[in-house]
Amino acid sequence: RSSFGHVKQAPEDPILGVTVEYNKDPSPMKVNLGVGAYRTEEGKPLVLNVVRKAEEQLLADRSRNKEYLPITGIAQFNKLSAELILGSDSPAIAQKRVVTAQCLSGTGSLRVGGEFIAHHYSGPKIIYVPAPTWGNHLKIFPLAGLETRTYRYYNPKTRGLDYQGMIEDLRAAPNGAVVLLHACAHNPTGVDPTKDEWEGIRNVVRNEKQQLPFFDSAYQGFASGSLDTDAWAVRRFVNDGGETFIAQSYAKNMGLYGERVGALSIVATDPAVAARVESQVKLVIRPMYSNPPTYGAAIVANILSNRALFEEWKVELKAMADRIISMRHQLFDALTARRTPGNWTHILNQIGMFTFTGLNKQQVEYMTRDYHIYMTLDGRISMAGLSSRTVPQLADAIHSAVI
Ligand code: PMP
Repeated sequence: RSSFGHVKQAPEDPILGVTVEYNKDPSPMKVNLGVGAYRTEEGKPLVLNVVRKAEEQLLADRSRNKEYLPITGIAQFNKLSAELILGSDSPAIAQKRVVTAQCLSGTGSLRVGGEFIAHHYSGPKIIYVPAPTWGNHLKIFPLAGLETRTYRYYNPKTRGLDYQGMIEDLRAAPNGAVVLLHACAHNPTGVDPTKDEWEGIRNVVRNEKQQLPFFDSAYQGFASGSLDTDAWAVRRFVNDGGETFIAQSYAKNMGLYGERVGALSIVATDPAVAARVESQVKLVIRPMYSNPPTYGAAIVANILSNRALFEEWKVELKAMADRIISMRHQLFDALTARRTPGNWTHILNQIGMFTFTGLNKQQVEYMTRDYHIYMTLDGRISMAGLSSRTVPQLADAIHSAVI
């Protein structure tokens, strides 16, 4: 008799479960557009050349050891990560108002930030996330101790931003509530606010409601191909002087998915507060996993601290972003050539790794069954998983799903 006999079978994760199903399919034509991971034109995972070089340098350095890192990780990594997202000329960094802790990729950074807020925030312990959002947000924040609510974000009719709805919901949220914002390349919709819309959002969050912005930056450089362009919204918020939380991930933009490298930055209003905040962030991390792993962050620190490697990274990053953008054009053209009913311009307009196709659950299930195309049931496809070879198959599948 087991004390755990009552344990129920849990459902697969809605995103990672797609890969589980994909792996079971024996068909040679199967295509996985579920998980957001970059693939080459040949459909293979990519290790960036610049990452290989940084790894070789690490291996050649016999002075390196396997000692524990400090609780907040590699100091140089933290400094360079803050500069990457905030800009190397950031006044907040110069004024020593920024605390950065190396965390376990984007997920771990969100979790540590969420717990810190749950323990220490003087405002309401409620976080607003967009509807829809990356599904894990809805699981991370409640477990971190924050009540989690949604604000309107996506308008299925226009397949664009529901700006009016978003502003109304933020206005109706309590003063001081925490607001989670995708820094760029919103997942799953690929819909980002325009610069004017960002300013409207900032006005409500900062001036009208004194809310706390928490940026999730999982795609810096991956959306536009430019690290600075993709950090625009974060920098606007930080440069107005207010408090800001930022979770950074190097999974996509350096292709370090499984190395679990990321950073939590907290921008405080003055250096004394920042120092005390850092001391408490350590108390969140220590009982959770003691200290972060060395390897991935050492790779990142190597790349960010070396001019030549940094420049090389930017070229490789832009190549990934460009390939994704070219897949948007190829898919759009393939649907146009087939005279597929409906308006597909959103494939061109949406930003980043994903297209939110507008296909419904039945259509997705049909495409998986008859065309071996795997994607999440909300109709999201990872453009980074497509290639010139698989575009016709996807276009055929969409065509017959909608007619
Ligand atoms: N936030 C968003 C919006 C994401 O899409 C992802 C990756 N799917 C993450 C955070 C975190 O990913 P990771 O923990 O692998 O960095």
